[in-house]
Amino acid sequence: MSEIPYKIYLSENEIPSAWYNVRADMKNKPAPLLNPGTGEPLKAEDLYPIFCEELSKQEMNNTDAYIDIPGEVLDFYKMYRPSPLVRAYCLEKALGTPAHIYYKFEGNNTSGSHKLNSAIAQAYYAKKQGLKGVTTETGAGQWGTALSMATAYFGLDCQVYMVKVSYEQKPFRREVMRTYGATVTPSPSMLTNVGRKINEQFPGTDGSLGCAISEAVEAATTQEGYRYVLGSVLNQVLLHQSVIGLETKAALDKVGVKADMIIGCAGGGSNLGGLISPFVGEMLRGENQYEIIAVEPASCPSFTRGSFVYDFCDTGRVCPLAKMYTLGSNFMPAPNHAGGLRYHGMSTILSQLYDEGYMKARSVKQTDVFAAAEQFARVEGILPAPESSHAIKVAIDEALKCKETGEAKNIVFGLTGTGYFDLVAYQKYNDGVMDDYIPTDEDIAASLAQCPKLG
Ligand SMILES: *Cc1c(COP(=O)(O)O)cnc(C)c1O
Repeated sequence: MSEIPYKIYLSENEIPSAWYNVRADMKNKPAPLLNPGTGEPLKAEDLYPIFCEELSKQEMNNTDAYIDIPGEVLDFYKMYRPSPLVRAYCLEKALGTPAHIYYKFEGNNTSGSHKLNSAIAQAYYAKKQGLKGVTTETGAGQWGTALSMATAYFGLDCQVYMVKVSYEQKPFRREVMRTYGATVTPSPSMLTNVGRKINEQFPGTDGSLGCAISEAVEAATTQEGYRYVLGSVLNQVLLHQSVIGLETKAALDKVGVKADMIIGCAGGGSNLGGLISPFVGEMLRGENQYEIIAVEPASCPSFTRGSFVYDFCDTGRVCPLAKMYTLGSNFMPAPNHAGGLRYHGMSTILSQLYDEGYMKARSVKQTDVFAAAEQFARVEGILPAPESSHAIKVAIDEALKCKETGEAKNIVFGLTGTGYFDLVAYQKYNDGVMDDYIPTDEDIAASLAQCPKLG
């Protein structure tokens, strides 16, 4: 028997007291956000009408390696952190692999995912600024749920635009949000100008994250005392999620294990960015090497089939331009069951790191993902979120490769959440009626052709 326990816990005092900002160690910083009207780089002040001031500053901060976690946020973290790093002994045995598999489990809170790590920080800064409330979008519903928990804690109003397909598929998520006091509207709605326009242009659309973002931004900028908050993609969100990677690294250090490979699912890139930040920091400083793999759905393959260009962050084209791997802001992904991964773009930080070869990316098919999810659930006990199961799929693939080569690699992956609200998807899989829609090259080229032409 090995000495490494099934669950490597840190104590409460070992929750990091500062977030790590990987941008400080990047030689080539992520490209700046541009004003969609003028094409000029934005300054923090330019973001103040949309975002909280403190969060705007964090968005633009490319220099401070560490940013203190406010005491009130740390107190909230203590209710559900540190999260366990689990040695997947049962999965290793089932696979018959010499690899050592570890996963960092972020599903141990009511919202069921890592998103609470940033939601509580964003709600804190909104409260500190004296705002009345915040608006946001939610795809699969995890972010809206996390944010409604966070705003309830600080006594703020919360208005959530929920992608229509999820609103209909996941009525229980909606009820959790309402229980925590949020108002939930299916998007595209008829409440905003941009929602009405999108409904006209794409009648009967299931919606997308890009649409919902446009609506939530409009709602924030047209109501006094409101700001918009976003649960992924932004630099500030990756910063807050670095708590995942810092804890993972501390836990591995505690048992004397060095990761060889780090795997995470990538929607907008926040959990993956947070998980890998401290490890990438070591790579950037020339201290260590890791193999890092981003996993995305074949139905929405931003890294593996997108272009690294400036694009709009939202379908309604009201948000700033970001240089990122994108499928085009008009890309309407098929309504697959990994709702949290259906975003056309990608974090600018991860896009830059990927472009420079610090990480790889792989896309996987939906039915393969659910096969991996079931295999994992049956041996490790946890019912994983479909998003998280993208990482499981590649972790299993890599562990099976080790079986062939006889290598005892240390594989670490991010298990971002639980799948209790995804049972419609599991039902489709179990009934054998799940499909694997993959966009054609023509679909992607048509959408990319509409990216703005700059310079
Ligand atoms: C939102 C979500 C994701 C994807 O978002 P990222 O910003 O790419 O991390 C992954 N897993 C779960 C459970 C989610 O809720």
